[in-house]
Amino acid sequence: MEERGSISIHTENIFPIIKKFLYSDHEIFLRELVSNAVDATQKMKRLASIGEYKGDLGELKVTVAVDKDAKTITISDNGIGMTAEEIKKYINQIAFSGASEFVERYKESGGDKNQIIGQFGLGFYSAFMVADNVEIVTKSYKDETEAARWTCDGSTEFAITDAKRETRGTDIILHVAQDSEEFLEPARIKTILDKYCKFLPVAVEFEGEVINNPNPIWTKQPSELTDEDYKNFYKELYPFSEAPLFWIHLNVDYPFNLTGILYFPKIKNDFELQRNKIQLYSRQVFITDEVKDVVPEFLMLLHGVIDSPDIPLNVSRSFLQADSSVKKINTYITKKVADKLSEIFKKDRETFEKNWDDINVFVKYGMLSDDKFYEKAKDFVLLQNTEGKYHTLEEYKALTQANQTNKSEQLVMLYTTDADKQHAFVEAAQSRGYDVLKLDSMIDSHFIGMLEQKLEKTTLKRVDSETIDKLVEKDETKESVLNDQEKDSLKEIYEKAIDNKNMMVEIAPMSPDDAPVIITLPEFMRRMKDMSKTGGGGMMFMGDMPDTYNVTINANHSLNQRVLNAKDDNKARIARQAFDLALLSQNMLSGAALTSFVKRSFELIDKE
Ligand code: ADP
Repeated sequence: MEERGSISIHTENIFPIIKKFLYSDHEIFLRELVSNAVDATQKMKRLASIGEYKGDLGELKVTVAVDKDAKTITISDNGIGMTAEEIKKYINQIAFSGASEFVERYKESGGDKNQIIGQFGLGFYSAFMVADNVEIVTKSYKDETEAARWTCDGSTEFAITDAKRETRGTDIILHVAQDSEEFLEPARIKTILDKYCKFLPVAVEFEGEVINNPNPIWTKQPSELTDEDYKNFYKELYPFSEAPLFWIHLNVDYPFNLTGILYFPKIKNDFELQRNKIQLYSRQVFITDEVKDVVPEFLMLLHGVIDSPDIPLNVSRSFLQADSSVKKINTYITKKVADKLSEIFKKDRETFEKNWDDINVFVKYGMLSDDKFYEKAKDFVLLQNTEGKYHTLEEYKALTQANQTNKSEQLVMLYTTDADKQHAFVEAAQSRGYDVLKLDSMIDSHFIGMLEQKLEKTTLKRVDSETIDKLVEKDETKESVLNDQEKDSLKEIYEKAIDNKNMMVEIAPMSPDDAPVIITLPEFMRRMKDMSKTGGGGMMFMGDMPDTYNVTINANHSLNQRVLNAKDDNKARIARQAFDLALLSQNMLSGAALTSFVKRSFELIDKE
């Protein structure tokens, strides 16, 4: 038999277009052809299982071979094969009609490849991205048929002839084009197979070795698996990583199909390096590790695999974002992650607390970016205090209420962003029986803002943003040992000694045990400055504004009585020294001010 034909589409040659535009990664031809071969063997298995095929199945497998001299790559399988009629039907008609539609759309879209790429499963024809001539030698499982050979040189001409092939199955022989000879390197082929075919469900052999694991654990039931299995699989995926904290086995049939395992890794400092660690598969064929649109942004730091035949392949980003099953998958994953965290929290709070340092970024980021996640996470999100104790939001509200002795309905939670630098303030708060939260990570400034929005009648104030009595406003005001006139002159002395209009001096009666001078940066001022630093909306002008600090002079401290009673020229000197010490305790003393402080200090001890 010899039959020649031509494919009736109204363009001379579609392959240059396919080659140039269909996939940006030429290497995926191998993924397409190997998965076709795998499909063919799986169809064989199914036919046998339903009794349609009664012969010997043999050991089903796919073999990839490179012949550098002949410049061919051959993909062989012992699957169902094709009759000559089937070749015409499946390869010529369907694929070519797909290709011609591709060309039509390509024209319509004015050549914008992003609009059309991947809306076409031109699987087999991706062979022409690397080959200038492709042969199919195939024999159907149906005994009575002859083997057939199909050849095509990349034009719209093809030929079908009889062929010799003793056994059932298909060889796809690629005559590699000159500009694609890199694919004749066995090492290159091995790399591509490792990337895309590692978990294909049928044995794939290359150079005498099976390169895949056909039964990865995500295809199994959680009840069949032990913790060791999950940990070993993690090692298989990321050989150089530390063991994961815990994992979630995803398994859903409806309204979409999805399996997979997501791992919570031990977080290292460098977030960026840890991204793109989730691998996306479709029926065990690797698709991509750019899961940006499938997995919610805040879970990008998770590791693992997701396998779903419902995720459209090879599609452009905007197409993927608009895809409704992708949206559902996104929602589903968010829910599963929240449920899992909630479960661990309820069952084993100790473990949950132990891992909090590693997972708090996920949780906080999730609460900030997704309201549904917030609703679930608000019951298990933890606040850590300076003592290292953890509280839930509810627990901490109760604690704050118990500690807060005034009658105000407004709860004030105190926090520190740096327990070392703000030590004096933390101590002042604690000595009055208040608790101080440790909120010092990058995400915490946003987290604080969110808590204030979501928690009713609650404000968060940084411990050093006011003197402690003002932070948690007391109902009773302290008696001052100074009269009004004395207060006025004390204020004047300090203002003159400080001589800086950005330092707002005020006289306040505090405990004699408090420091004589306390410098604070009001909460709103600091937040505005933080916002302008991160480019927050409309706040750019704040960048040029000088810091305006409050300088609180403790009217009840004996030192300040000494200032008032000192000889005229000594008043300013003591005041300045006290102010400099306050600056020093906050790490704010530098340059010329520091030099003259040190000089003055030497003079003072010299005199004593
Ligand atoms: P798709 O796989 O999306 O259907 P392809 O262009 O990759 O599109 O393949 C077209 C058809 O050709 C397949 O559906 C299948 O019927 C047939 N085919 C391709 N490769 C093989 C093979 N190795 N063995 C048997 N049939 C095959």
